Amino acid sequence: MTQKTIIIWYRNDLRIKDHEPLYRAYQEKANIIPIYCFDSRQFTTTSFGFPKTGKYRAQFLVESVANLRQSLQKLGSNLIVRQGLPEQEVSAIAQKLKVDAIYYHEEVTAEELTVEKNLQQALSSIGVKYNSFWGSTLYLPEDLPFAFNQIPELFTNFRKQVEKKSGIEEPLPTPTKLPSIPDIELGKIPTLAELNLETPTFDSRAVLNFQGGETPALERLNHYFWKANCLQEYKETRNGMLGADYSSKFSPWLAIGCISPRYIYDQVQQYQTEIIKNNSTYWLIFELIWRDFFRFICAKHGNKIFYLSGLQGIDIPWKEDWQRFQLWQEGKTGYPLIDANMRELALTGFMSNRGRQNVASFLTKNLGINWKMGAEWFESLLIDYDVCSNWGNWNYTAGVGNDARGFRYFNISKQSKDYDPQGDYVRHWLPELTNIPGKKVHEPWKLTQEEQKRYGVILGVNYPRPIVDFFKSVKANEAIYNQALA
Ligand SMILES: Cc1cc2nc3c(=O)[nH]c(=O)nc-3n(C[C@H](O)[C@H](O)[C@H](O)COP(=O)(O)OP(=O)(O)OC[C@H]3O[C@@H](n4cnc5c(N)ncnc54)[C@H](O)[C@@H]3O)c2cc1C
Repeated sequence: MTQKTIIIWYRNDLRIKDHEPLYRAYQEKANIIPIYCFDSRQFTTTSFGFPKTGKYRAQFLVESVANLRQSLQKLGSNLIVRQGLPEQEVSAIAQKLKVDAIYYHEEVTAEELTVEKNLQQALSSIGVKYNSFWGSTLYLPEDLPFAFNQIPELFTNFRKQVEKKSGIEEPLPTPTKLPSIPDIELGKIPTLAELNLETPTFDSRAVLNFQGGETPALERLNHYFWKANCLQEYKETRNGMLGADYSSKFSPWLAIGCISPRYIYDQVQQYQTEIIKNNSTYWLIFELIWRDFFRFICAKHGNKIFYLSGLQGIDIPWKEDWQRFQLWQEGKTGYPLIDANMRELALTGFMSNRGRQNVASFLTKNLGINWKMGAEWFESLLIDYDVCSNWGNWNYTAGVGNDARGFRYFNISKQSKDYDPQGDYVRHWLPELTNIPGKKVHEPWKLTQEEQKRYGVILGVNYPRPIVDFFKSVKANEAIYNQALA
C-alpha cells in the first residue's frame, strides 16, 4: 500500500497530547502535514462593534501557535502557518501537495461549522477526503447515554446520567516521532500589529501571567496539582477572586485546546490515588462536566444559544443603553464589586467565575441591558473565551437559558461581603478606594461626608455614586421579565 499524505488542520486544539487526528494519522504511518490558519474573520468586529478577538486572547493564541510549532519541530515535523480563510488556504495546500485526506477536530457552533462546510466543499471539488474527530470534551458523544437531540436540558439531569452511565476514555498516546514535512513555505506567525491589535502590557495585579501553549498549560497543571497541592482544597477556594491559586486557571488553555479535559481528568485520578480523594478533587471534574454540558447543549440547539430570546425563547424588551453600558464596561457603576471585576477584565482579560456571575447579573437584572452586548464584550476581552461556555453561561445569567427558573439575581452587597469580606479584592483594583477600611469599602454610598473626607473619596467626584438604586432597579426589571413570560 502506498503511503498516505494527511493534513492535520489545527483549530481550537493546539496540542500534541491526546490529539486524535494527529494520533490516527501517526498510526496510519502517513506523511503528516500540520497546518494552522489564522482566520481573518476572527479578527474583524462583533455585531456591537468590539474587536472579535481582543488583544489578550490574540496574544495567547499567537503564543500557543508558536509553542505548537516548537513541539512539532521537536518531533521532527513542523507547523505550516497561514493567514486568511482556512477553507481556501488549507485546500490550496492540499491540492499543491497532492494530499489524500484532511483530519481535524470538529466544532459545534455556527461560524466554525461554516468554515468546516466550506472546506469540505472545496476538498470534494478536488477529490480530497476529510475525516473529523470529536476531541474537546471529557465524554465522547458515542459514550453519552442519550442521543444529541435527547440531551437533558437541565445540567443536574445531564450530569447524573453521564456520571452513572458513561465512561471517560483514557488520553490517547502522544506520537514520539513524526515524519518531516514536504518542502513548502512554512509561513510566519503574525505579530499582534499584523493582526491590527496593540500588544497588551502585563498588569502586575493580574491573577496570573498567562502564557499560551501546551507547555505552559502542562506547567500550570503541574503547579496547581503537584507542586502547590492546591487541588485538595479547590472546593473551598474556587469562589475566590484574588491571586493565582484560588482556582485552576485552566480555562484559557482549555478554550483553545492546549490541554485536553481528558488529560486533566487522568491527572485528577492519579492525584486521587497518590495524594487524596475528596470533595475538591471531585469538584474540578464537576466543573469540567459543566463545560461538556454547554458544548453538548450547543450541539443540540444550534444557533438558539445566540438568539436574544435565548434557549427558552423568552422575548424580553432589553435596553440598548450605551451610556450605562459604557459605565459597566469601564467599571464606573458605583458598585465596587462590579467595578473592580470589570476593570480586572479590561486590564488583564481575566475575571473569576464569581465576578462573571455578578457582573452579568448586574448588567441584565439591574441595568436591564441587552445581555448579548455583555456576551460580546466578554467574547472580545476574555483570554479564555469559549463560544459554548460564554454564550451558555450568559443565557443562564440573563434568565433565558434552558434552566430558566424565574427571575433570579445576585445581591451585589451580600455577594461582596460573602466573597470579599475584608474588601481586599475591591481595593486591589480600585485605587481610589484604598483608604476605606474593611467591608465599608463595599458600600461607599453609605459613607458620611466626614468619612469621605477622611478616606479621600468624594462621591460623584473621584468615585461614582451608584448608577441605579439596587432594589428599585431589580424590581423594575423583574416586572418586565414577568410580563414577557405572561
Ligand atoms: C457570564 C459568564 C461567562 C463565562 N464565559 C466563559 C468563557 O468564555 N470561557 C470559559 O472557559 N468559561 C467561561 N465561564 C465559566 C467560568 O467562569 C470560567 O470557566 C472559570 O472562571 C475559569 O477559571 P478557572 O479555569 O480557574 O476555573 P475552575 O474553577 O478551576 O474550573 C475548572 C474548569 O472547569 C470549567 N468551568 C468552570 N466553571 C464553568 C462554567 N460555569 N461553565 C463552563 N465551564 C466551566 C472551565 O473549563 C474551567 O477551566 C463564564 C461564566 C460566566 C458566569
